[in-house]
Amino acid sequence: MKIDGSCLCGAYAYEAEIDPAKVVVCHCTDCQISSASAFRFGVLVRKDRYVELRGTLKTFVKIAESGAPRALTFCPECGTSIYGCEPEGPTVYSLRLGTARQRAELVPQVQVWRRSALPWISCVDELRAHDSQPDKLRPRSDF
Ligand SMILES: [Zn+2]
Ligand SMILES: [Zn+2]
Repeated sequence: MKIDGSCLCGAYAYEAEIDPAKVVVCHCTDCQISSASAFRFGVLVRKDRYVELRGTLKTFVKIAESGAPRALTFCPECGTSIYGCEPEGPTVYSLRLGTARQRAELVPQVQVWRRSALPWISCVDELRAHDSQPDKLRPRSDF
């Protein structure tokens, strides 16, 4: 399946060809922190199936729990995570699918690192819901 995406500010954009049957949710603590969210969802994409359309990424190398270094890339302008890979000579990228225009169609098929999943993860669907941001929940300056 062909997908495309960009960072929040639009400075970086890509196209990729992925297998939608391999979309994964990762609950590891590194993904929680680097995505600044409850979990990350993504897919492995071969480097030769990944095309940079514009922009240049910045890389941060994190030592994973396994001791292996992991290169994490992000837009230097807006900080959006784009993919992770081996620091030297990667052949595969672990693409962060929150940036994909087709993200609603990319249904995760498996979850990993469930042992560090946030305990409330399965409660989200049951929360009181608003279709957008109600006035009383908007961030304000007069806290
Ligand atoms: Zn950006
Ligand atoms: Zn992870």
